[in-house]
Amino acid sequence: MSAPASRSGRAPQSVAVRVPAKINLQLSVGPVEADGYHNLVTVFQAISLFDDLTIAYGDAGSGIKISITGDQTHGVPSDVNNLAAKAAAAICAKYELADDLEITINKSIPVAGGMAGGSADAAATIVAMDSLFALDMSRDEMTEIAADLGSDVPFLLSGGTAVGTGRGDQITQALSRGTYHWVLALSTVGLSTPAVYKECDRLREGMDVVEPVASDVLLKALLAGDAQALGKVLTNDLQPAAFSLRPALRLVLDVGKEYGALGSLVSGSGPTVAFLVGDEDHALDLTVALMSSGVVGSVARAYGPVHGAKVIDVKN
Ligand code: ATP
Repeated sequence: MSAPASRSGRAPQSVAVRVPAKINLQLSVGPVEADGYHNLVTVFQAISLFDDLTIAYGDAGSGIKISITGDQTHGVPSDVNNLAAKAAAAICAKYELADDLEITINKSIPVAGGMAGGSADAAATIVAMDSLFALDMSRDEMTEIAADLGSDVPFLLSGGTAVGTGRGDQITQALSRGTYHWVLALSTVGLSTPAVYKECDRLREGMDVVEPVASDVLLKALLAGDAQALGKVLTNDLQPAAFSLRPALRLVLDVGKEYGALGSLVSGSGPTVAFLVGDEDHALDLTVALMSSGVVGSVARAYGPVHGAKVIDVKN
């Protein structure tokens, strides 16, 4: 089918975007608010585990169609509940575009793994729609749509390293030197983010929970490019809740410590466990140790920081 007219003339037939996963180097969770949400301070790093998302025009009247491919497809909805479909629908409504679209997502980001795979696909959709319809959206326009879709979505537009405040959706880029190497212990069964927050609230009942602040030592370690120092100050307030719901994660963490990881933590709401290592050789050693430990589903290696959602192919 032919491409519709666009703001700036000829529009492409399809656009492919690559988007990274995130890990949280710091995730500090404030007291539960009246609406059930929490104020957060988090330091995000985008890492080299990617989903590739392609959007093409569909047949008239077909609506938004989603196809999922790749090695992480289990539990990903292929209907209106997919965050990519939600993002596309929001943009079609805002810019009065026909919503006949074919979206293909090749997923490598673990599903419900605390690495924001769904949010990544939403960010990729915003960037792809902007290019497909030549909307020339400003960064602010994109961020506004992103924040409405979920608190991790704005970060995945920009990527890199950033401090997130509010619900994690107010992003300030952080200065970071060098490249950090990660080994990721993946679980075959995900953890529900709302369930982990609920467990966090239960574990903290009766405790005085202070408003979160960004860790100075952590930001200084990033500025200095000091992986040893960074490894010592990785922190995640959701980790006790993830351990409580999935006790076996402690064993995974122990393997990393035994094999000399510079630091380790559960990523976001889990269950992925991220290990910071010194270099690629160290990453390989730890990968082998984790694989032979029998306590992890699979292992991935990644580095960060990397770019946010980015167009990688345009077909005219
Ligand atoms: P976060 O860390 O942002 O809380 P997560 O990484 O733990 O998220 P996701 O992979 O984003 O979890 O998936 C959470 C749930 O969202 C899935 O179980 C699935 O039902 C739903 N979902 C909707 N769209 C997508 C998508 N494009 N990719 C993956 N999951 C999606």
